[in-house]
Amino acid sequence: MRDAKSTSSETSPAGSVPPRPLTGAMADEVERLLSGRTRDIRLTGELRRRFDERLWRQTAKVIRSWMIWVAFVDVLTLALNAALLPRQVVLSMIAPACLLPPAAILTAVVWNKPRPAAVQRASLLLGMFLILLSVGLVGVFAGGEFYERHLSIMLFVATSAITIFSVPLAWTIAIACYALCLYLILQWHNPLLEAGSVVAATLFFSCGIIATVVARRTMNILAQKTFLLDCRDQRRVAELADANARLERLARTDPLTGIANRRWMMETLESLWRHGRETGIVAMLMCDIDHFKGLNDKLGHGEGDRCLVKVAGIIQSCVRADRDLVSRHGGEEFLVVLPDVDEEEAVAVARRIRESVEAAALPNPASSVGPSVTLSVGVAFKSRADTNVSLANLQHEADMALYRAKEAGRNQVSVFRRPPVATGQTAARRQG
Ligand code: GH3
Ligand code: MG
Ligand code: MG
Repeated sequence: MRDAKSTSSETSPAGSVPPRPLTGAMADEVERLLSGRTRDIRLTGELRRRFDERLWRQTAKVIRSWMIWVAFVDVLTLALNAALLPRQVVLSMIAPACLLPPAAILTAVVWNKPRPAAVQRASLLLGMFLILLSVGLVGVFAGGEFYERHLSIMLFVATSAITIFSVPLAWTIAIACYALCLYLILQWHNPLLEAGSVVAATLFFSCGIIATVVARRTMNILAQKTFLLDCRDQRRVAELADANARLERLARTDPLTGIANRRWMMETLESLWRHGRETGIVAMLMCDIDHFKGLNDKLGHGEGDRCLVKVAGIIQSCVRADRDLVSRHGGEEFLVVLPDVDEEEAVAVARRIRESVEAAALPNPASSVGPSVTLSVGVAFKSRADTNVSLANLQHEADMALYRAKEAGRNQVSVFRRPPVATGQTAARRQG
């Protein structure tokens, strides 16, 4: 099954650990093996180890079920024989038949959990030998018509094991060899058969068993090929997922500043609103660089770009990284969304952003406000009570507050004030 040096910790059953990605060398080996002829496929090294690891659970289950079934059939047959056959015959069958159940059950117990390859090999080969010997000796002890019949049953038992046990070919060949040897030796002593007849029967059954071993070998190779194809699929799926993740990152990122773009922000907000999470409190800050067009005109587009990158970084540094959302909303506009803040906190964040941009002293010779880059911020706030404020409303209110800040001379924070619904008062705005 696996390398003799492998330990039980290395041989954890498939499924208990998530599939590990293939290394580049392993992926190359997978492609090399798949490009050749199927019959030449031979897994080695880490690929072989992973294949064995994956196969173990299935093989162990088959072996355990087979062993228990054979033990059950042995006891059942003995019981039937006791009811149907002469007492003398049944008594002679009991001793050899009793050898089978403990051998089968012990083998099943050994295969109950992963063990070193040498232990698994020894238990299976010894268990199979005792089972076949038991079946053969039942015939020998009963004699007469039962002699040859039980030796044929013994070969049938061996053939079924060879067919369904997905174990290394050497183990399969060992089982086939001692099944045939047992058959030849025991049949040789069959008083009812001539030597020539024994040899002919042995040769006949040998052909059948060899054909079964060859079929088992083909199944082993096909199992390895299936494993290789799975490895290839797994790698391709991982590459595809990687490419998708990269694409998704690109689609939601503003290429100049590296922060989220408008599309991502709107999708996120729409989803929040759609799922009813807007029932919480939220503040929206619309930030716009003052006289940015003039900066571009005076210092050039490149300097304008660098300014945008720096302002984006400053805004991000002023918010909570784990919950606040920042996006580039348009040319020199940034949208900030602050969930779960009260109005006072929202205004404090807006002021911090404005002050930080001013403190950064990025040059803007075209500004009428001062020598450096400044920012105007419009704040709109939605409390838990404002259940009918839509996303579009809130955005519009933040825009209006920004417009107000610009009108009032720029480089300031303006807060939109919504009139109380019950009194129907008109909207009042105040400068922050
Ligand atoms: P205000 O104070 O009223 O906001 O004036 P403003 O000049 O900042 O606003 P306006 O809307 O007139 O100009 C915005 C400018 O932003 C115009 C455009 O050239 C510039 N812009 C938009 N996108 C980019 C960009 O990606 N890089 C650079 N360098 N400039 C940009
Ligand atoms: Mg603008
Ligand atoms: Mg502007």
